[in-house]
Amino acid sequence: MYEGPVQDLIDELGRLPGVGPKSAQRIAFHLLAADPADIGRLQDALQKVKDGVVFCDVCGNVSAEATCRICRDPRRDLTLICVVEEPKDVLAVERTREFKGRYHVLGGALDPLSGVGPDQLRIRQLLTRIGTEVSEIIIATDPNTEGEATATYLVRMLRDFPGLTVTRLASGLPMGGDLEFADELTLGRALSGRRSM
Ligand SMILES: [Zn+2]
Repeated sequence: MYEGPVQDLIDELGRLPGVGPKSAQRIAFHLLAADPADIGRLQDALQKVKDGVVFCDVCGNVSAEATCRICRDPRRDLTLICVVEEPKDVLAVERTREFKGRYHVLGGALDPLSGVGPDQLRIRQLLTRIGTEVSEIIIATDPNTEGEATATYLVRMLRDFPGLTVTRLASGLPMGGDLEFADELTLGRALSGRRSM
């Protein structure tokens, strides 16, 4: 245990996902030794992330404007929608460079035990997006229990749309895992080998 502000900083850093006590300590001491200008930029970035980030009103991804960069891009294929749980999953799929359609971010996965039902996710918004131009929905929820439950639910909801193909990422992704941790090659393969539901 350190005294006062240093320990407070270590404690706060340690609450971030993926940061263990050792990393928290290392980051804290890095910041202590850092140039004040660097700290200022970090402070600014932290402040702006709360004040300036909005969610895209089409897909739910984090965005700097009312509609995100991907939804505004006229080169993206309007017939394809890739459904993911979180904005970080959009980045994971983008990294594969295999997908040229647009996204729909649910904002989580079905988890009744934690009180997350269909109404807590952006499922209704997804259904309203399916007009005449969408021909395929790729379900790319995480390969774990909640992700599978969400996929099953979505397949049931999407079944009755005429002419709509619903696909799921091919197996090969590590079960129980998180989409964002899959490497680009594995995720790219899972995407190109997706199967119809
Ligand atoms: Zn968007």
